[in-house]
Amino acid sequence: MADTNLMSIPGQVDPVPVARDITPRADGRLDLIGLPKERIRELFEDAGLEPKQAKLRSKQVFHWLYHRGVTDFDAMTDIAKTMRPWLTERFVIGRPEVVEAQHSTDGTRKWLLKTADGHEFEMVFIPDADRGTLCVSSQVGCTLNCRFCHTGTMKLVRNLTPGEIVGQVMLARDALGEWPKGSMAGLDEAEDEGHYSSDGRLLTNIVMMGMGEPLYNFDNVKSALKLVMDGAGLALSKRRITLSTSGVVPAMQRCGEEIGVNLAVSLHAVTKEIRDEIVPLNKKYGIEELLEACAAYPGASNARRITFEYVMLKDKNDSDEHAHELVRLLKQYNLPAKVNLIPFNPWPGAAYETSTPERVRSFSNIVFEGGISAPVRTPRGRDIDAACGQLKTAAEKKSRAQRDREAAEAAEAAGA
Ligand code: SAH
Ligand code: SF4
Repeated sequence: MADTNLMSIPGQVDPVPVARDITPRADGRLDLIGLPKERIRELFEDAGLEPKQAKLRSKQVFHWLYHRGVTDFDAMTDIAKTMRPWLTERFVIGRPEVVEAQHSTDGTRKWLLKTADGHEFEMVFIPDADRGTLCVSSQVGCTLNCRFCHTGTMKLVRNLTPGEIVGQVMLARDALGEWPKGSMAGLDEAEDEGHYSSDGRLLTNIVMMGMGEPLYNFDNVKSALKLVMDGAGLALSKRRITLSTSGVVPAMQRCGEEIGVNLAVSLHAVTKEIRDEIVPLNKKYGIEELLEACAAYPGASNARRITFEYVMLKDKNDSDEHAHELVRLLKQYNLPAKVNLIPFNPWPGAAYETSTPERVRSFSNIVFEGGISAPVRTPRGRDIDAACGQLKTAAEKKSRAQRDREAAEAAEAAGA
């Protein structure tokens, strides 16, 4: 039956217990999304299948779920017709519910999603000429209260489950019409059915930069990303996945060793005083400790550099002196680094303003002259408030009826 192991969330607020792998449903059926093949096999055995049958069926179902993206057991053509109702009675193939879908004039898309128990979170898709990046949330809210971040003003509601995390990627592929087509031929011989390639595809990259601190939801993020990286699953290369952390030092090494994705670190300041103010986690894990952990990050190299995110706040962290100090620090720790300068995305009630374009340019030039690439991130989807890391829900202000109407339209537009 449903796994009721509870986990607690480390951080500054009271731990919130959440179901580890399966969110219970009113109808008693179990949602398979988010579960690895082994766990699906166990559930099939628990439900009465012979061990050999359970193994075969779990392999087939896994393929249909994660590689082909089907949401209906009836579409699983290599599973006997008599078997399909047996599955439908006991299991479901879920997706996060879409509350609202918005499309920016620049192609950026934002979805307001809802968990089965009614918590809202967001996901953003940002298309570029050579890639399409999905910005994925790891928690509802965040415990960390960074001063410039709107998510930081929300109370942490709970961690997202592996299904709710991988479900975002699956929903994006649904919406973009990007599931691989073709037959099941070769499934029995080939474990790895070939990787999902970026050729002609829209969704090529994933950044864990939505709501929440992914390293405070380590196990669930890891389980979800394993499914995303599995060659027989969503089959996206780990080189195309970046996890962004505000600097949870004790979890960084594990992230490199156990997940193996690219790392982005929200540095945002080069002095203790300023970082303590804007990223309060700095009081726990200071800049030196953080940069040491970056230097030791497994897998980092000149070919796979660590991204340092730096939000540009007017008259706070954006002087030429700060830029010089940033270069000095990154060199002192001998870091294979690139810097991502993010113009602050203002929100009502924020205590900061965006740096002027001249200031941003001057800062960028200094870092660049120091031999470190320092592109300025272009704001995207401003008309729909879609910036990653600023996942505010303007929708909260809309009436229930209006949102329901828009959700119905969105579902229709997504071809549901
Ligand atoms: N919790 C993680 C990942 C989510 S935030 C982290 O902090 O790294 C993703 C990125 O968006 C972070 O670099 C964050 O600092 C940045 N961000 C948050 N609010 C922002 C805002 N209002 N304007 C610009 N960047 C912001
Ligand atoms: Fe949380 Fe990241 Fe926002 Fe800080 S910047 S409050 S860690 S989501």
